[in-house]
Amino acid sequence: MKVKKIILSIIAILIIVSSLYIIVNGKNYRYEASNKINIVSSNFASYDFLRAIIGENDNIKLTFLVGPGKDAHGFEPTAKDLITIQNADLFVYVGGEMEQWTDKVLGSIEDGENDNTLDENTEKIIKNIMTANRNSIKTICISKFVETIEEQEIDGAEDEQTYEIEKADNNHITTQNIPDDSQKEIHEHEEGAFDEHIWTSPDNAIKMIQTLEKAMEEIDIQNARTYKINAQNYIEEIQEVDEQIQEIVDNRVRDRLVFADRMPMQYFVNYYDLEVTAAFSGCSTDIEPSASTIAYLENKVKGENIPVILHIELNDGTVAKTIAEGTGANVKQIQTLHNISLKDFNNGETWVSLMKRNIEVLKNALL
Ligand SMILES: [Zn+2]
Repeated sequence: MKVKKIILSIIAILIIVSSLYIIVNGKNYRYEASNKINIVSSNFASYDFLRAIIGENDNIKLTFLVGPGKDAHGFEPTAKDLITIQNADLFVYVGGEMEQWTDKVLGSIEDGENDNTLDENTEKIIKNIMTANRNSIKTICISKFVETIEEQEIDGAEDEQTYEIEKADNNHITTQNIPDDSQKEIHEHEEGAFDEHIWTSPDNAIKMIQTLEKAMEEIDIQNARTYKINAQNYIEEIQEVDEQIQEIVDNRVRDRLVFADRMPMQYFVNYYDLEVTAAFSGCSTDIEPSASTIAYLENKVKGENIPVILHIELNDGTVAKTIAEGTGANVKQIQTLHNISLKDFNNGETWVSLMKRNIEVLKNALL
């Protein structure tokens, strides 16, 4: 009996010690419990490309971190999001002004250098759970694998105008004739900041797929052949959409697209050599244009006989309708793939299917 008691005590001690070990090494415990390769993408385009590359594979869990129906610019990771990243075998992000939080989360910026993106509590969580594990996460800043462009000034864009006025003010030129409401939001461009909306041109989309496919091969060599085939098939689908859009562009009767909205498609516009006028730049937090911006857009539409006024996904097009009423133009939604609506996401829409939707819009706008 005595021996039995001793054995039971030893077993009990072992259980307690191993439980403590599991708590301390929470990551390993969770990883083994799910026994899947965890791939996490902050942004929809990379998520979609990874989904196409991976195909049907029960051993892989793919997570779209920002999630459908949400504005990527206002995103701040929750404690749950941080644990998702912590448990990732691969974390793909875009970076730039849009995702400054990734710098903090991945610990690539020294404490105190950039303290304006996350609240104190979130930072505490990051310090506690991220630092110990960050070496085990493979990260890809996908914007480093494409040719990025600097943020460009967009014709009509209110935040760009304000920026110009600000610069003029610094040089003691003039601050007069500035509409009051245009000063409410000064969009601060970092010197030489790149345009982070990299996924909107087909050539960038293809480079992103090639990069992500290589990463998947490294992580899961057993399925390398499948990843290669899936990536190639998706690249061909993108090339097909590209050809269809190029045909419209080749036959266009006008060059200009007018956005009564933010314009996060500069890579697309440059790729197809189009002109663009917009109420706001791609990453503006302001979506209520001033009276002077509306007047500017109306004049542009009337002056150049623009048939279609665009607004982007997740926007109800109120401003576009206002301008349409005054000009007789039509209102159409263009998919920038910056974000995806919950409905489209649940329907399984992809980069390709959403770009295909743009083909009809571009026909109306350019032909
Ligand atoms: Zn943006």
